[in-house]
This record gives sequence, structure tokens and C-alpha cells, in this order.
Amino acid sequence: TPVIGVLALQGDVREHAAMLERCGARARPVRRPEELAEVHGLVLPGGESTTMSRLLETFELLDPLQERIEAGMPAYGSCAGMILLARRVLDGRPDQRQLDGLDVVVRRNAFGRQVDSFEADLDFDGLAGGPLHTVFIRAPWVEKAGDGVEILARVPKTPHAGDAADRIVAVRQGPVLATAFHPELTGDERVHRLFVDMVGAALPG
Ligand code: GLN
Repeated sequence: TPVIGVLALQGDVREHAAMLERCGARARPVRRPEELAEVHGLVLPGGESTTMSRLLETFELLDPLQERIEAGMPAYGSCAGMILLARRVLDGRPDQRQLDGLDVVVRRNAFGRQVDSFEADLDFDGLAGGPLHTVFIRAPWVEKAGDGVEILARVPKTPHAGDAADRIVAVRQGPVLATAFHPELTGDERVHRLFVDMVGAALPG
């Protein structure tokens, strides 16, 4: 059984853990390097990427996490988690640190300050069962993705999507997955199931 950590510095820790357990994984909160060392994969929840970056440093998790990701540990970042996993962030704070697990440039709070949150039905590449209903909360988008990055979902071209239409909101690069939205809030397990399968596929032995 894959043991999957949920970075527990901030955000929807319990919701992610519940989804992972429903998908057959064992979920563990991760706050300390010793806890990180014991998991086969890690979820980085939403929250505030600037605060999470600071807390990662305070809890002495930034370097060990960067090392695990570099060594190929599967990781899934939602919203602020996506920002942390990116190579580079636009509209971030100057001192905000990046884990550099994904060859993408993300724009923080990309949908505009006036757009606090919205919901959308997305076509998510590789997920069977029809469109995915998603919740975006002060979300980023992927402004630029490197050649090795699979684009899994974009904002649909609806009448009110405006500038946001076609923007990239879900990506994967090898063992690293990221979504600009919050699948832990909808009850639809398919994104978590995808990640649990990724962790299972990477299990030693
Ligand atoms: N706007 C937040 C940030 O910049 C992300 C919001 C979220 O995770 N729901 O980190």
C-alpha cells in the first residue's frame, strides 16, 4: 500500500488525506524531515505559497523536500502547491522559494484580484468518466511549459472565460503532477486516484 504524505503546514490537509484514503492509500501528515523520509509520495495542498515557502524553511523541510523531488519522489501540488513545485513564479514575492520539480513558469493569482473563486468543468486528459468539475480559489495558471511537460487541462472557452480561455491549469512531468484547482473540495476522486496510481507505479520492488 502506498504511504502518501500531505504537507501539513497550511491548507486542506484533512480533505486531501481523506481523498487519498478513499483511493486506497495510507495518508500521513508531514511536518518534519523524519516524516518526509517515511512517505512514498507527497501532496502539497493549497494555501498561500509565500507563507508555505517561509514555513518550509522554518520547519527545515525545504532542502530535504527538494532532494526527494530531485531523486524522483512522486509529488502532487494543488494551487499554492503547484506554485511551489514550479521552476519560476511570476507575481510572487521576491523571497519566495521554488522547489523546481516542474519545468513551468506559473503566474500567481493569475485570474485577477476581482475573481476570488470560480468553478468550471474541464476536459482532463487521460481521466475517464467525462468532464471534471473543478473549484479555483485565487488560483495560478501555467504561463509557460517546457517540452517535457504534459498539458492535462486548460480553461474551457466559455463565454465568460475571457482572457483565461485556454490557459493551462493541470500538468504532469514524470512523477510530478500539479493542478491550479482544488480537487479535494469536490468529492470527485479521479485526480487523487491518478496520483495514487503514480505513487504505486513508483513503489520500490
Ligand atoms: N493565491 C495563493 C498563492 O499565491 C494560492 C491560493 C490557493 O492555494 N488556493 O499561493
